[in-house]
Amino acid sequence: MLGLAILPSAQQETTSHVERKFKIGKPYPIVIATASTPPLSGKDKTEDLTWKKHVIESGESLAIAFDNIGLDGKTLHSLINTDANTDANTKQLERLSPGNILQFGFSKEGKLVELHQPRNHLETLIVRHDGNTFTSEMDKKEIETHTNFSHATIETSFWSAADKAGLTANQIMEIAALFGWDIDFALDIRAGDKFEVLFEQHYLDGNPVDRGEILAATFTNMGKTFTAVRNNDGKYYDKDGRAMRKAFLRSPVNFRYVSSNFNPRRLHPVTGRVKPHRGTDYVAPVGTPIWAAGDGVVLESAYNKYNGNYVFIKHSAKYVTKYLHLTKRMVKKGQRVKQGDTVGTLGGTGRVTGPHLHYEFLVNGQHKNPRTVDLPQANSLSGNEQVTFKKQAKQQLEYIQQLSTLLTNNDILLN
Ligand SMILES: [Zn+2]
Repeated sequence: MLGLAILPSAQQETTSHVERKFKIGKPYPIVIATASTPPLSGKDKTEDLTWKKHVIESGESLAIAFDNIGLDGKTLHSLINTDANTDANTKQLERLSPGNILQFGFSKEGKLVELHQPRNHLETLIVRHDGNTFTSEMDKKEIETHTNFSHATIETSFWSAADKAGLTANQIMEIAALFGWDIDFALDIRAGDKFEVLFEQHYLDGNPVDRGEILAATFTNMGKTFTAVRNNDGKYYDKDGRAMRKAFLRSPVNFRYVSSNFNPRRLHPVTGRVKPHRGTDYVAPVGTPIWAAGDGVVLESAYNKYNGNYVFIKHSAKYVTKYLHLTKRMVKKGQRVKQGDTVGTLGGTGRVTGPHLHYEFLVNGQHKNPRTVDLPQANSLSGNEQVTFKKQAKQQLEYIQQLSTLLTNNDILLN
């Protein structure tokens, strides 16, 4: 449904035009302006009516409201027994709540000609008197979805660049989560990094109301470009159909800082002999939850005087992760865990100089640097689904490329 549908097409161009703003630091909305609001219905009989707006008060029935507005019971009766339009059944008028609005339109002679009741921000019940009887219809406004684009180069922080580029807080968080598997947004962002985002914008009566889904995005971090494209399944994949989500979290704790990195040739400060540091030490407050880095089965959950409380998780024949010095262990040997499950809390048990998480990542029994090891992707697309996705992703990324070039060029021209 997405993909082709959002790309500019011949039939779209006949009813829309593209409006761009090229001020540096402002959003670049591709506003597709709509024609003026259409008449409420095919009938254009809104001759000079005098309108009275009435707000329903607590305990006020339709009969009382009619009485208050100066209308008789006969009018009310014929109005609520009008044609059985299932879509705009006037009997529903009897189920009023405080705060509901009724708008009465009277002719010069003081006769009720129209009654409008907004049901929500999209629907309004309209009842009309055509000389003989009342007829009803539901006027429905439609939310239109258009594609919008935003891009920027980071000068200080991702947040401020994205904010200036017109993205919402939700969108900024979403992008950070999308690329958070590949980029550490706390440590790796540099001036000169850039991003491009293609997203849905909802319009009501030609006015932008809210944002829809992010359709595709790119993020260039220290010269390396990552892409994310939304698939019909609602998940994001890179241009080749590999899941953005990885099989492992890069770090299994929300840490303050790294106190000691992986170092296979670390020298012992006293003996001067090689005493490898086979994991990463993450520092965070005692009690901070420690997450399972990936789905797996608990291989060991125990205590000894060196490791303190420790948990080992086996993820497949190939991968094992180890979590040491915990205050509390929260899983048992043999238990199945999902990525992100809390397996324990950070502590200072065992042989340590201060509280931290010592985290190890083993591939085929060999210790790897947890911060740099290549993490396998989770659930990638395959077969026909992958073929279809790649085509769609290619088009969207080309579209991003075009917009990006176009807007940059215009920026230069205007300056
Ligand atoms: Zn350590």
